[in-house]
Formats: sequence, C-alpha cells, structure tokens
Amino acid sequence: MGGTILTAKLALKETSCVHLGGGFHHAFADHGEGFCVLNDVACAARYCQVQEKLRKIMIVDCDLHQGNGNAHIFKDSKEVFTFSIHQENNYPLIKPPSDLDIGLADGSGNKEYLDALEKELPRIFKDFAPQLVFYIAGADPYFKDQLGALRLTLDGLERRDEFVFALAKESKAHVAVVFGGGYAQDINDTVLIHYNTVKKALEIL
Ligand SMILES: [Zn+2]
Repeated sequence: MGGTILTAKLALKETSCVHLGGGFHHAFADHGEGFCVLNDVACAARYCQVQEKLRKIMIVDCDLHQGNGNAHIFKDSKEVFTFSIHQENNYPLIKPPSDLDIGLADGSGNKEYLDALEKELPRIFKDFAPQLVFYIAGADPYFKDQLGALRLTLDGLERRDEFVFALAKESKAHVAVVFGGGYAQDINDTVLIHYNTVKKALEIL
C-alpha cells in the first residue's frame, strides 16, 4: 500500500514510476479475497483524489483476472475509470462491472488480446483523458501460467506493455505501474515478464 502510494506520488512528480509489486485488485473496501488483503491501487487512487486533487484517474487492469475489487469500489465514481481485460471464464465468478470490461474466451492469444486492446483503449483514453493511469501489468495472461487459460507469449506481453505505455505517453498521462499476478510453471518466466515491463516503461516513458 505504501509502495503504491509512493509510486503514484513519484509518477506525478516525474512522468512515471514502477512499483516492483502491488496490484492487489481483488480486495474490496471491507474484505480481502483472491490473494489480496488490501487494495493498494484503490487506496493510492483515493490518495491522489484527496491529496493531489486529481479528477481523472484511470485503472488499466491487464491482469488475467477481472479487477472486481476496483470495479466495485469505484462503481459510482466519475473520477476513476476502471478498465479490465481478462479471461472471462475464470475467478472471480461474480464480476462487478468495470466502466469497461473485455472478457476474453479461453485460449485467446496475442492477436485476440492485442486486437481487443487496440479496438477499445485509444477511444477511452481520448474520451476520459486521464491525468494519471494505474497500470496493473499482470504476468498471468502468459501461455505457461498455471492459473490461467489465455495464451500470450513473452513477445505478446511486451507488445501489450508497449501499447499501453505509448498510448499513455501520447495522452500526456502520468503512469504508475504495479505488477499484479503471475504464476508461470517456471518462476524465471514470471520474473522475465515483470522485468520486460520495467524495461519497456524505462524505454517509452
Ligand atoms: Zn491474476
């Protein structure tokens, strides 16, 4: 929680900042679930509303699982836009609606994923014009993930990160990056996916 709040503050001061952790998007205001005790992104977003007087915050959730905690917490907020692209047929069973959800079919790979992002994200960036983006860069859409059934390759995940970062840059939004989940059979793959996210953030932002 402290790390993600600090990441948001530094992202606002610089152009962007990456937290080597965070993204506990399944925690609600009154309970934790799905490996998530406390919702760091929701608290950091609230912090930025109150302390930094931000009025346009967007959560771009690219973890394999739907961001049910954030969707529920910000369901009545016009200042926080929640976007989630996820595997439809997976936890959480009940998915409170985000401002925009894309639920992908089992087995969706690079093309389906990137096509869906390209179709929806530029439009919502343009319409909402976020001042700050929280990017939840989950490593679990990876094809060797043990908890998911999406089929992105390492290259596909890098292109996902690149696309989000380039769009944020073009929109002049500050970006706070958090890791989200990742459960590859080989932990080195998960580390590499997160490493690539940091590398892309450095290159593009
Ligand atoms: Zn996940």
